[in-house]
Amino acid sequence: MRSTTGYGALGSEEELTLRTIERRELRPDDLAVRVTYCGVCYTDLSALRAHSHGAGGDLLVPGHEFVGEVVAAGPEVTRFQVGDQVAVGNIVDSCGVCAMCRAGQENFCVQFPTLTYGGRDRHDGTPTLGGFSGEYVVRESFAYHRPENLDPAAVAPLLCAGVTVWEPLRRWGAGPGMTVGVAGLGGLGHLAVRLAKALGARVVVLTRTSGKSADARSLGADDVVVTTDEQDLARVASSIDLLIDTISAPHDLGQLLRLVALDGTLCSLGHLGPISLETMDLLVGRKSLASAGSGGRPRTQELLDFCSEHGITADVEVLPSAEVATAMRRLAANDVRYRFVLDLSDLPANGS
Ligand SMILES: [Zn+2]
Ligand SMILES: [Zn+2]
Repeated sequence: MRSTTGYGALGSEEELTLRTIERRELRPDDLAVRVTYCGVCYTDLSALRAHSHGAGGDLLVPGHEFVGEVVAAGPEVTRFQVGDQVAVGNIVDSCGVCAMCRAGQENFCVQFPTLTYGGRDRHDGTPTLGGFSGEYVVRESFAYHRPENLDPAAVAPLLCAGVTVWEPLRRWGAGPGMTVGVAGLGGLGHLAVRLAKALGARVVVLTRTSGKSADARSLGADDVVVTTDEQDLARVASSIDLLIDTISAPHDLGQLLRLVALDGTLCSLGHLGPISLETMDLLVGRKSLASAGSGGRPRTQELLDFCSEHGITADVEVLPSAEVATAMRRLAANDVRYRFVLDLSDLPANGS
């Protein structure tokens, strides 16, 4: 085993503490990656909460959007070499042969993809431990070349938040002549605005308070609609071709559907669970309600290449890794603009 250090919680612990963790020895197609920066995703917070409330047992080490440098490569690795700058997202393996995998949507693998943390390795059954650590061991086919012209800390969130909004933008053809709406201006939403704008779409941000108007416009929004203002809503009724809804708390999808244009789509990314809907809101205008989550390998590399070409990164607040608890606490309070990133280069790569 390869020893490294990472921030983890055992049993019902509610705080992440620095501990020695074990990684597998490299298999022939594995890379060992010295982790430098890892984004803090809302999923990390949910996982820690679930873990501390009894779902735990195994060690939990969160972190599934990170960048780093290849420090070792197995003998069958062909796409990377030691010293390469890489990025890893929220899945690290899949069956490779099902319909979803063959379509390049390993994120929807029918056998369930191996999650970067909180999953089980497909070969030895060991629990996967995430990127809040000094080193990660990953199959080369689930690592990506990191664009070296971009700030590495600000690239990390592209691997989860970024690809989660990129897939629906590409699926529904965001581009010139199209109006894209973005509801919610957090980690996902701020990237959706930048990406939709760079794709050539007209971008409308939907926000509950006018206080975020200036932020939305500085990210590239052409219009801002305050959803608590009926007149403002009426102004944009039936005008949005693709509405990317990043809000994760329960909310009225009917209100958003009424803003969608003829044959348009409302894509909800917030894992809302069971919802109720007035189907008349779909009938009038022949509208579609859809969802999406994470991304497959082809779209992930495509996103990184697009961001490199267009100079797009996340707005991040970088914290020393020892401040992981601060990041979690402030994220829980929605006090971040727009993503925390932990600097893990301050950890020793090898455990004691
Ligand atoms: Zn995530
Ligand atoms: Zn599969």
